[in-house]
Amino acid sequence: MFEVKLDTVRQLSESTKEFRFAIVGQGSLGYEPGQFYRFTFEDVQGVFQRSYSLSNLENQEGKHLDIIVSKVEGGRATSLLFNASPGMRARVTGPHGRLILPRKAPKHLFLIATSVGVAPYLPIMRRLENENYEKVDLFFGVRDRGEFIYEDFFKAYAEENDFFDFRLCLSRENAEAEYEYSGYVTDLLKKENLSPSGSLFLVCGNPQMVEDVWSFLTGRKFGGPQVIT
Ligand SMILES: Cc1cc2nc3c(=O)[nH]c(=O)nc-3n(C[C@H](O)[C@H](O)[C@H](O)COP(=O)(O)OP(=O)(O)OC[C@H]3O[C@@H](n4cnc5c(N)ncnc54)[C@H](O)[C@@H]3O)c2cc1C
Repeated sequence: MFEVKLDTVRQLSESTKEFRFAIVGQGSLGYEPGQFYRFTFEDVQGVFQRSYSLSNLENQEGKHLDIIVSKVEGGRATSLLFNASPGMRARVTGPHGRLILPRKAPKHLFLIATSVGVAPYLPIMRRLENENYEKVDLFFGVRDRGEFIYEDFFKAYAEENDFFDFRLCLSRENAEAEYEYSGYVTDLLKKENLSPSGSLFLVCGNPQMVEDVWSFLTGRKFGGPQVIT
């Protein structure tokens, strides 16, 4: 366990903020892109824990933890975080989690996310730039364009990396741009010509979406190890 101190806060959309924590004292992060840390916070009711995926694009092995948090109405941790000032302290354990890249690159990697479930894919995408991936598709589900966080990053990344493509799945707006799709990520997945051989799916976000994707893929003869949640 180590201590962190809130350094900066950045508003990403109406309901999401990015928090950068600095490690207090000695120590540095040793995590695999895609993993999460468990934060111990303290409020007037006492201490409590919540987990957050690392969204670090920089400082992959450094002394900062970046997290992207979606506001939950009446939520204990999110109320604390959304009202926090730089200097706020928390204790952290980790890294945890198996939403990470495999040792051997699959032929086709799918990154499936809704809302802030896209956070762990940011460090994963940084890592992908240095590896030999042939084809990577991000399906990012949001309610409307206002929730399209990191828009500039995803667009620039797709421009710069031939192996990468992304689709923004809008559940409450009509698609207009070529990269947009009207509907849920699961609907888009069902339209894909999926080949069980050589495909790997990382899935993160809304629990119902994760369950739907899991049921659909395992029902289509994808093995459990090919779907990481
Ligand atoms: C492995 C892991 C990684 C996670 N990574 C992230 C992350 O990167 N970013 C992030 O924002 N969250 C992430 N979470 C969720 C996070 O840990 C908290 O659960 C979330 O921030 C809500 O905490 P809270 O204390 O504000 O809400 P609570 O006080 O725990 O909940 C308040 C009420 O809201 C409901 N509720 C809780 N979460 C949601 C939700 N998402 N939508 C709607 N209702 C909800 C609860 O059921 C409860 O009724 C992750 C969770 C896990 C398990």
